[in-house]
Amino acid sequence: MPNAPKPLRPHWVPERKPFNNSKKNSDFYNSWRWRKTALAYREKNPICVKCEEEGIIKASEVVDHIKEINNGGAKYDESNFQALCHSCHNSKSGKAGASSKKLTVQVKRPKYLEEIARHRGIPPKNTPDNK
Ligand SMILES: [Zn+2]
Repeated sequence: MPNAPKPLRPHWVPERKPFNNSKKNSDFYNSWRWRKTALAYREKNPICVKCEEEGIIKASEVVDHIKEINNGGAKYDESNFQALCHSCHNSKSGKAGASSKKLTVQVKRPKYLEEIARHRGIPPKNTPDNK
């Protein structure tokens, strides 16, 4: 119904504006091509790069665009990707705040992350002693 009247809104209620980014890219992020690309990238980059900078080995959970695609960043160019965990991704987007990572409880690393940590010379400081 293109000619349906807009629902009346009392003048003291501020007009709701949709968030700029919330819906805009969801088609892209839900697309088969992106999922496949992100999965393949995470297989190659299984740990969070931000955590690694701090000596923490944490599994990557999302593929982030370094230059946001809303700002013209390349969608499918791996040089524009970084593998992040949820808390780093959230602190990048400013949702959870930068301090959220400090509150993250480090759980025992899965075996494959231990392997990666060892290869990169990162001490297994978060692993409980199994002796
Ligand atoms: Zn992280």
